[in-house]
Amino acid sequence: MKCSIEGCKGEYEDKLVVHTVRYKGQVIVIDHVPAELCSVCGDVLLKPETIRHIESLLETADHPARTVPLYEYAS
Ligand SMILES: [Zn+2]
Repeated sequence: MKCSIEGCKGEYEDKLVVHTVRYKGQVIVIDHVPAELCSVCGDVLLKPETIRHIESLLETADHPARTVPLYEYAS
């Protein structure tokens, strides 16, 4: 599928991406999210069912599989 970003000639490819969301003031990182990623500009598309799955994950996200270091760009 053609990239939806204006002027970009890339195509979306099925990839597993790292998806980061802010939820209730916390930064949540979800690895291996199936998404369509533009090989040129890096734009990411998530399917509606993927977004629903992420939302249900967040509601039950008491026990992360792993934790990651989080750095502030400016501190
Ligand atoms: Zn693109």
